[in-house]
Amino acid sequence: MTIRTHQVCTNCVMDTTDSQIKFDAAGVCDHCRNFREHTKPSWDTGPNGREALERVVEKIKAEGRGKDFECIMGMSGGIDSSYLTYIAKEELGLRPLVFHVDGGWNSQQAVNNIEKLVDGLGLDLYTEVIDWEEMRDLQLAFFRSGVPHIDVPQDHAFFATMYNFANTHGIKYILTGANYSTECVKNPMEWIYFGTDVRQIRDIHARFGQRPLVKFPLSNILRHKIYLRYLKGIRVVMPLNHVPYVKEEAVQLLVEKYGWQTYPQKHFESRFTRFYEGFWLPMKFGFDTRKVQYSSLILTGQMQRSEALERLRTPAFDEQTIDQDFEYIATKLGITVDELRGYFKAPNKSFRDYKSQQHTFQIGGKVMKLLGIEKAVKR
Ligand SMILES: [Zn+2]
Repeated sequence: MTIRTHQVCTNCVMDTTDSQIKFDAAGVCDHCRNFREHTKPSWDTGPNGREALERVVEKIKAEGRGKDFECIMGMSGGIDSSYLTYIAKEELGLRPLVFHVDGGWNSQQAVNNIEKLVDGLGLDLYTEVIDWEEMRDLQLAFFRSGVPHIDVPQDHAFFATMYNFANTHGIKYILTGANYSTECVKNPMEWIYFGTDVRQIRDIHARFGQRPLVKFPLSNILRHKIYLRYLKGIRVVMPLNHVPYVKEEAVQLLVEKYGWQTYPQKHFESRFTRFYEGFWLPMKFGFDTRKVQYSSLILTGQMQRSEALERLRTPAFDEQTIDQDFEYIATKLGITVDELRGYFKAPNKSFRDYKSQQHTFQIGGKVMKLLGIEKAVKR
């Protein structure tokens, strides 16, 4: 076994805490190379990109004629989905139904932001509340399993609910805030495994859960990538990849126009995710998702590498309030702080320790990349 010395990419801030990272002779990593060779050439926010988007918008409008709304869009209250709401209504003239899935962990800012935007833009909001007892049971099962990707229950519930709703109501278009601008570098698979792997969710729940999942929304990858997409014709559209999207400018616009409230970090609209990405993942596993987020911003010209390195010197969580966070999370999950701390100290596991559909995902990813549907394969 060769011991790898710590190395940071000379162009972004990804490093050897991503164990699969590869550097070239100049010390530039494969995330950067992938961006340069695959993402950037196909990413057009100029007139051509806009034209391509307008063509899709026309189809969405035609499809929605005479209906209460033309499409649905997922809204978490975070910057990407908030800006998407603004673009969809104000720039594209669409009538989306704003779809929010309440997994029980909304921060006060998230609630404010959803309300302010929906009211300010005159849109309709639909909120689906996930059965809390089942959510709690599944989240605890993930804690007990020892895997790093304990955010999967939330993540899965969000998109499965949306797909299910679209399918039930005959909706053909789902808009999402997924984008290259803030997410062109992806979390390595060993950091955050696929939230769509139902086989893994079921296995972890079967081993560590305590009550059956009856109401919890599940959507198998094959069902939503193939059955719903190709047989039922449900399309996922990512408008933010076709318009200029500069994070700081978007934040400023939403703050000034709608009284939007900022978060210290991406994904912190959920109190669970704040604890998870800010503390649990870096302190238990050494995986700091800020490296992925900052690297995306560096590659898209929105952050200086030196600033990112400087920010990474201090932890993402507040040392003054971390004890309160432990108490909040434990109390909400119905366990003691000691039990939660026990999971923190327990041996680390990976997605490989449980049943999974990893091979399906890898083959599917390669096919999508070959067909030009997806630019970057999660690895
Ligand atoms: Zn790099």
